[in-house]
Amino acid sequence: KKRVYDFTQGSKEQKDLLGGKGANLAEMTSIGLPVPRGFTITTEACLEYLNSKNLDAELIKEIETHIARLEKETGKKFADNENPLLVSVRSGSKFSMPGMMDTILNLGLNHQSVEILAQKTGNPVFAYDCYRRLIQMFGDVVKAVDKNLFEEALTDYKINHGYTSDTEMQAVDWKQIIKQFSEIYLKEVGEKFPQEPAEQLYAAVEAVFTSWNNPRAVTYRRIHDIPDTLGTAVNIQEMVFGNTGAKSGTGVAFTRNPATGEGGVFGEFLMNAQGEDVVAGIRTPRPIQELKEDNPDIYRQFEKICQQLEAHYQDMQDIEFTIEEGKLFILQTRNGKRTAKAAFKIATQLAEDGVISKKESLKRLTPSMITQLLHPVFDEKSLAQNQAIAKGLPASPGAAYGRVYFNAQDAQNAHEAGQKVVLLRTETSPEDIEGMLVSEAIVTSRGGMTSHAAVVARGMGVCCVVGCEALNVNEKRKQAQYGTQIIKEGDIVSVDGTTGNIYRGEIKLDKAQDLEILGKVLKWAAEIGDMKVRANAETVDDIKTALDFGASGIGLARTEHMFFGKERILEVRKMFLSEEEMQRKKSLETLKEYQKKDFLEILSLTEGMPCTIRLLDPPLHEFMPKTKEEFEEVAKACGQSVDFIIQRGKELEEFNPMLGHRGCRLAVTYPEIYEMQVEAIIEAALDLAQAGKQVKPEIMIPLISEERELTYLKELLESKIQKLFKESGREVAYKIGAMLEIPRACLTADKLASAAQFFSFGTNDLTQLTYGFSRDDSVKFLPEYIEKRILQDDPFQHLDQDGVGALMKTAIGLVKPEYPEISFGVCGEVGGDPEAVTFLKKIGLDYVSCSSYRVPAVLLTIAQSST
Ligand code: ADP
Ligand code: MG
Ligand code: MG
Repeated sequence: KKRVYDFTQGSKEQKDLLGGKGANLAEMTSIGLPVPRGFTITTEACLEYLNSKNLDAELIKEIETHIARLEKETGKKFADNENPLLVSVRSGSKFSMPGMMDTILNLGLNHQSVEILAQKTGNPVFAYDCYRRLIQMFGDVVKAVDKNLFEEALTDYKINHGYTSDTEMQAVDWKQIIKQFSEIYLKEVGEKFPQEPAEQLYAAVEAVFTSWNNPRAVTYRRIHDIPDTLGTAVNIQEMVFGNTGAKSGTGVAFTRNPATGEGGVFGEFLMNAQGEDVVAGIRTPRPIQELKEDNPDIYRQFEKICQQLEAHYQDMQDIEFTIEEGKLFILQTRNGKRTAKAAFKIATQLAEDGVISKKESLKRLTPSMITQLLHPVFDEKSLAQNQAIAKGLPASPGAAYGRVYFNAQDAQNAHEAGQKVVLLRTETSPEDIEGMLVSEAIVTSRGGMTSHAAVVARGMGVCCVVGCEALNVNEKRKQAQYGTQIIKEGDIVSVDGTTGNIYRGEIKLDKAQDLEILGKVLKWAAEIGDMKVRANAETVDDIKTALDFGASGIGLARTEHMFFGKERILEVRKMFLSEEEMQRKKSLETLKEYQKKDFLEILSLTEGMPCTIRLLDPPLHEFMPKTKEEFEEVAKACGQSVDFIIQRGKELEEFNPMLGHRGCRLAVTYPEIYEMQVEAIIEAALDLAQAGKQVKPEIMIPLISEERELTYLKELLESKIQKLFKESGREVAYKIGAMLEIPRACLTADKLASAAQFFSFGTNDLTQLTYGFSRDDSVKFLPEYIEKRILQDDPFQHLDQDGVGALMKTAIGLVKPEYPEISFGVCGEVGGDPEAVTFLKKIGLDYVSCSSYRVPAVLLTIAQSST
C-alpha cells in the first residue's frame, strides 16, 4: 500500500490520509501555485508506526524513492556536500492541533555542508543562521531539549556583544553560537548532533509520529472531540529561504480581516527572517500593506494568489508564505479562524457574491457565534489580566460589570441613582423582577439552569450566573463571602454569563456588534427552515425582540408574569387571602382590567400570527406574602387583622407546591380566575378585531392530566366566551388547547384531543415529572451525575430523547392520525436546544417556542438541518 505521496499526487479531498497541511500543499501544487516541492507520509503510516514502534524497511524504501525524486527535480543532493538539499519536516493532522510536534527547518545541514552553503551563496551569516536553527529545533523537537537553554545562550551572547537584534549577528557570531548550541546538545542529549542527513530525517519523522500521543495533544483531542485514531501525516519539503538577506522574508496573511470580515489582504511579514519569526515575538512584524510599498511586484503577485485561493476554497484563507531573493513561495493555506463577527460578514458576503449558496453560508455559522454577536463580551486583554473569584452555572450569556446589591429594592434605588447594578442573591423570586430588570447582571448562589433567576434572565436577555456555591451570600448583612474574602454592598464585580465566571473589579466590555447582518442571516434562515419558531414572551420588549429575530408568533405568553408588579400582586393576594366574596370579586375586576390591557398589547403586537396565552400556572405559594410588611399590607388592604391573614396563609401552605395546588387545579377550585383571564383575552381580541386587526388568540390550559379536567374547564370557558359574544354581538376566532406536561397527559393525549384544538409540550415540567427530578433541587445532584457520567447532560437543558422524547412521540402518535389539524409545539427550555431540533422535526412537531434571545440560534439550526 502506498504510504508516501508526492505533492503532485494528492488533493484537498485527502485530509484524512495526508493531513490538512499535506492535502492543501498538494492541492496548491496541482493548481499551479509556487509551492516548494515535497511529499507527504500518510497518517496510516503514522498509525502503523505507533503500533510497531518501528519504521519498517518498506516505508524507508518508499521515503528514499521520494527523496531521490526530490533530488532529481531540484538538482541538489541530500547526503552530498557539494550542493546540499535542505528540507523542512512538518507535522500535519486532519485538524490543526496545537500540542503536537512543531516544524523542523533546514534539515540536512551538518558541519561540512554548512560551509559549502556559506561559500555557494556567498552568505555565511545566512548559512550559519540556518544551521544554528536546525540544532535548536531538532534538539527541542526530536530530543526534547529545553529550548530555553538555546534561547538563553543566544540572549547572553547578544548582551555580551552589545547586540539588540539577531540581524546584527555576524558570521563569526553565529559560528560561536553553533559551537555553544552543539555543546548544549551534547550535554543534554548525551551524544553529538547527528551529522548524517538521513539519520536526522528518520529521527524527525519518528518524532512527528510519536508526538501524536503527546499528553498535550491527547488532552487537546479530548477537549475538542477529535478521535485518537486519526494519526498525523509528515510533510517533507524542499527549503526556501526567507533569511538570506534584505530581499527575502516570510509572513502570514488572511485573505480578509479575521476580526471584522472586511475584504482585503490582512497580515504581517518580516524581511530577512525564517519560519515562525513572524509569530515568535522576537522581532516586531510589519503590516503586509508595507510590502506593497517595499515590493509592489511581489505584493501584487501575492494578492492575486490570495484571491485565487479564496475562490478555489470558497472561504477565507490563512496563508503562510516566504520570499527568497525576490521570489514568492506559498507554504500553507487553510480556512482561516475568525471571530463571530467576521464569520457573519464573510459567510453572507460569499453568498451574496454567488460563491456559495445561502444554505451553505448558514452552515458556516453556529449558535454560539450568534450568542457572541448578540451579547457583549469582555475585552480579551482586560480579561486576561483578571482571575475569576468564583464560578457558577452560565445561565444567560453576556458580560457585564456593576456594583453589587443584595436585594431588588436596593438594586432599583442604585439604578435610579445612575449606577450600574449587579444583583447578588441566594436565589431570586417573582418579587425581585423589577430589581432584576434594572440589573446589568444577576448572580445567585443557589439554583440551577431552570431556576427562577435563570429563566427570567434568559427571557430578558440579561447576563446571569446561578448556583455559584462558592459565594456565601448573606442578604441580611448585605455581604457575600468567598474563602476569606468579602464582597460588600457597592463593590464592583464583573460577571461572565457565557462561562459562569465572576470577577472582582471592572473588566472592559467589547460591544460593537453588527445586528444588521444578523437580521439578514435570520431572514435567510426563516426562508430555508422547515419548522416554525415561536417565542416564549409576554412583555412588549421581549415580543418585539422575538419578532425582529424572525419568530413566527408567540408560543407561550405566561400570564402570571403579569401579576408580579407591586400593585398587581397585592390584588392577587387579596383575591386569595380575603374571605369576603365581595372583596375577591373586586380584586378580580381590577386584575381583569390590568390583564385586558396586557392582552391588547400582546395581541396587537402579534397581529396576523398565532399567539398562545397560557392561563395562570404557578403554585399558590409564589403569590403569597412572605415578609411581615407584606402581610401587614395585605391585611390593611383587606380590612382584616394581620393574624387572620397569616392564618389564611398557613391554611394555603403546601408541602409540595410544585405537585400541589397549581395550574388547572387552581381553576377547578377557583374557576373565577380563569374566567377572568379568558374574559380579558376575548374582550381584548374583540376590541382589536373591531379595529380591523387580525388576531389569533390561542388559550392554553396548563397542567392537565385528565380528560374530564379539560372538558370541565373548557365548557366553563366556552360558556363565558359565548356569553361575551352574545353581549357584544360580535365574535372572534380563538382556540382552546392544553399543555402536555404531565406524563399521564401524554399517554392519554388521544382522549384529551377531543377537547383540545392544539397541544404544547411543557418540557420543563414534563422532564421534572418524567425523571422525578425536582427542577429547583436538581442542582444539588445533577452536576455530580454529569461528572460521574451517569447522565450525559442536564435533561432540563438538553431534551432527554429516550424518556421525555418518547412520551412526546407517543402523544403525537396517538393524536395525529385521528386529528391531523391539531398542532403540536414545545414551549420548554429545550425548545431552545439546537441538538433537539432534528429529533423534534422527526417526531412531527409543528413548531418550537423558546425565549426571544434563543430564537436566532434555533432558526439557524433548523435551517441548517433542513433538506
Ligand atoms: P505550523 O503548523 O506550526 O504552522 P509549519 O509546518 O507550517 O508549522 O511551519 C511553520 C513555518 O515554517 C512556515 O510558516 C514557514 O514559514 C516555515 N517553513 C516550513 N517549511 C518550510 C520550507 N520548506 N521552506 C521555508 N520555510 C518553511
Ligand atoms: Mg507552530
Ligand atoms: Mg503553518
